[in-house]
Amino acid sequence: MTIERSTPPLDVGAIRADFPILASSDARDQRLVYLDSAASSQKPRAVIEAIDDYYRESNANIHRGVYALSERATARYEEARHLVADFINAESPRECIFVRNTTEAINLVANAWGRRNVHQGDLIVVTEMEHHSNLVPWQLLAEQVGARIEAIPVTPDGVLDLDAYARLLAQEPKVVAVGHVSNSAGTINPVAEIARQAKAAGAVVVVDGAQAAPHLAVDVQALGADFYAFSGHKMLAPMGAGVLYGRLPLLEAMPPFLGGGGMIRKVEIGRSTWADVPARFEAGTPAVGDAIVLGVAIEYLKRIGMDRVREHERDLTAYGLARLGEIAGLSILGPRNADARGGVISFDVAGIHPHDVAAILDGHNVAVRAGHHCCQPLMRRFGLTATTRASFYVYNEPDDVDRLVEGILDAKRIFEA
Ligand code: PMP
Repeated sequence: MTIERSTPPLDVGAIRADFPILASSDARDQRLVYLDSAASSQKPRAVIEAIDDYYRESNANIHRGVYALSERATARYEEARHLVADFINAESPRECIFVRNTTEAINLVANAWGRRNVHQGDLIVVTEMEHHSNLVPWQLLAEQVGARIEAIPVTPDGVLDLDAYARLLAQEPKVVAVGHVSNSAGTINPVAEIARQAKAAGAVVVVDGAQAAPHLAVDVQALGADFYAFSGHKMLAPMGAGVLYGRLPLLEAMPPFLGGGGMIRKVEIGRSTWADVPARFEAGTPAVGDAIVLGVAIEYLKRIGMDRVREHERDLTAYGLARLGEIAGLSILGPRNADARGGVISFDVAGIHPHDVAAILDGHNVAVRAGHHCCQPLMRRFGLTATTRASFYVYNEPDDVDRLVEGILDAKRIFEA
């Protein structure tokens, strides 16, 4: 298959050599095929060594120490914030708050911004394809303040119904919460257009970027996102550090989410005042080492180039869609065109439970995920309870897709015998 590309292809062999885990094989000498990066990515040697290096060379608590080691840890932590800001084109590093993950980032917005700005009877717009982390925090808020939630429906092709969105905007929602790339249907949503329309209707735009920031060039200003959330562990970094981007005027007007050390200006017994942004939102000891190493992961991705990451995954997805499309009884969720989707393919194999497909693939040392992928409303929309999901990253290659296909054909042989 020939696919037009505007950047030179990745040297996947060289990239794979950076990931020690990919050199492993199972007891039957089958090399590991890792197709679950949407859940969490593998880590390159640069990241693994940076974790070790941090604890050997720079480990101390930050911001309060007056000794050189603490100052070094603080400087490296703040450097990582600059790298994050540059990576998503935030106007200022102060707009980037270190949190644990996407889930915590969205809970922060729903609590700190939401409780102050969303009131009885207000409308919160989400989408039918949201991950539970961009749904449940809004439900908790709605329950507390008496707000309503409506979802932009998903069409049979797995894209958002933008006519229905326009009708929801006519009701002047307070917030529009949308995923940039679906972790299940794979759909890349037109976030810039959604945000433009939301702003015109007076809504604040919260973007779940968990499946986008690791895989394509994100420019929060061009997107028009008021808030943008993502997780380091899905983009080559350790588990433990994620990011909430928020536009500075919004963050500055927000009360804290969590209270404790590091986020205060003055504390009395009965009341306190708050530190400036971003410290206001980083209560307690942060995951300093994880945030610093997120910076190392970002540098690794920047060396490859996010446009090349995107094109590589698009090509693999196109190949995956074509190969999986040849399998009788296999149906794929989401758009058929690889340009319209990220590197995630969820599928159903008629007559075989996704957990059985995944277990047989595991016997081939092919790691995929099976389940509802924290998208129960989307599964329900397609009349399913679960799918099998293969997801790609910089270290995957067409041979991985071939191994996936072989495993699925084996599952069919076993179940159709
Ligand atoms: N949103 C999307 C679209 C996701 O794919 C995920 C991870 N599966 C999350 C949010 C939650 O990410 P985390 O578990 O890192 O908070």
